[in-house]
Amino acid sequence: MMTVLPPTRGALTPDRPLDSLTWLRVGGPADWLFQPADDDDLADFLRDLDPSVPIFPIGVGSNLIVRDGGIRGVVIRLGRGFNAIAIEGDRVTAGAAALDAHVARRAADAGLDLTFLRTIPGSIGGAVCMNAGCYGSYVADHLVEARAVTRDGQRIVLTPDDLRFAYRHADLPAGCVVTEATFRAVPGDPDALHAKMAVQLARRDETQPTRERSAGSTFRNPAGFSSTGQEDDVHDLKAWSLIDQAGLRGHSWGGAQMSEKHPNFLLNTGGATAAELEALGELVRRRVLEDSGHDLQWEVIRVGDPLPVSTEG
Ligand SMILES: Cc1cc2nc3c(=O)[nH]c(=O)nc-3n(C[C@H](O)[C@H](O)[C@H](O)COP(=O)(O)OP(=O)(O)OC[C@H]3O[C@@H](n4cnc5c(N)ncnc54)[C@H](O)[C@@H]3O)c2cc1C
Repeated sequence: MMTVLPPTRGALTPDRPLDSLTWLRVGGPADWLFQPADDDDLADFLRDLDPSVPIFPIGVGSNLIVRDGGIRGVVIRLGRGFNAIAIEGDRVTAGAAALDAHVARRAADAGLDLTFLRTIPGSIGGAVCMNAGCYGSYVADHLVEARAVTRDGQRIVLTPDDLRFAYRHADLPAGCVVTEATFRAVPGDPDALHAKMAVQLARRDETQPTRERSAGSTFRNPAGFSSTGQEDDVHDLKAWSLIDQAGLRGHSWGGAQMSEKHPNFLLNTGGATAAELEALGELVRRRVLEDSGHDLQWEVIRVGDPLPVSTEG
């Protein structure tokens, strides 16, 4: 039986290919892609949507491998109605679709230090979900509260206690869509904050393949785990060094490659499929386990169905 979806004011597109919505440029279609017009549109849609239909929120796809067979159900991508940024005192409130880099720049203009967001290529929704961070600061260190819509259309406010942040992790209720987040930031001189961000950008470009198709760090740093995520940055044991030590720097499989520049970055060098990217990742996990005994865990979120394997011919 065909599922009938509730009416919406925002765009609802059937069979929407997702490759162009992810940084790795892979992935089959979503059954539907919903781009809500605003908060009410999102809440009404989720309230009226058949509870058996799965939903999957995406940000800008900078931490995703969408498999080649695509995603069943409704993929929700927030856009223009969710990218406002407001600053009051030491608080910065940003819509979930606002880009991290944009929020960092606006905060710096106002003399507030959210510089850690400047080099993370995601959106605020993805940052909350992943407890994104770098250079020793994480969302967990700054978040005051996040607002979200639950799978059944209720509006809720989530505190850091609710979210139980850990290294690259937040405990979001299943099926809930973050719509906005408020951060507390330490004051600073705007020029100095912009200069700090310029240094961070240069440091990134020097050490990471920032201009290639990737999803950032592929695997979590093995022992880098703490309640705030902070220890990650000071921990000696890095996934990239284990991959390097196992001789897999630059290793490729089809169009997928572990970066020469930063071996924990999985690249789509051109025509890679999601299956090739995932297969290379699993090969790396096996070889690293054999080489060093460390069982690397994916940091990149893999979602959707593989293409069915043909049994003909
Ligand atoms: C070059 C490069 C460098 C990177 N460097 C870093 C880094 O230094 N530090 C770091 O932490 N990460 C880094 N990343 C990874 C990535 O940018 C972050 O994880 C980012 O927070 C993901 O945001 P996104 O909007 O792209 O989310 P997506 O990749 O689209 O989604 C990631 C997860 O968040 C969920 N999600 C997204 N939006 C919402 C929402 N509104 N409500 C509920 N759930 C949502 C998705 O369901 C998914 O589970 C890097 C990636 C790249 C490509």
